[in-house]
Amino acid sequence: MADIFSVKKRSLIMAGVKTKNTAPERKVKSVLKRLRIKYRSNVASLPGKPDLVLIDKRVALFVNGCFWHLHKNCSKAKLPSTNKAFWRNKIISNVHRDKNVSVALKRLGWKVITIWECKTKSHKIEALLMKKLKHKI
Ligand SMILES: [Zn+2]
Repeated sequence: MADIFSVKKRSLIMAGVKTKNTAPERKVKSVLKRLRIKYRSNVASLPGKPDLVLIDKRVALFVNGCFWHLHKNCSKAKLPSTNKAFWRNKIISNVHRDKNVSVALKRLGWKVITIWECKTKSHKIEALLMKKLKHKI
């Protein structure tokens, strides 16, 4: 029987995952505030609807979940033991989309920064963010 939900919707339902203003995203926002860097959230007019956008600096910032976006060499990016094929397809399609979004943004003159969820838990997040921004602006 065909699923009444799209694959994306189904995945969200199954995982009970929030996609907006997640804890990692809030953490990055608080660091940006502390650094007095202006940002906007979920700018729908840009490809991939970046989580945060630093308009003045033309930087699109994505706060990516390690599992959903396949953070390389990260312990949180492990596939569940059941339904492996489904999850692998789902996550690989996320990775492809991330890549396409990044290319599209760069073509429009935007710089792209990805912050991984696991990094937002470290006290070094502020230093990491500053370093990434310095290379981009
Ligand atoms: Zn990670």
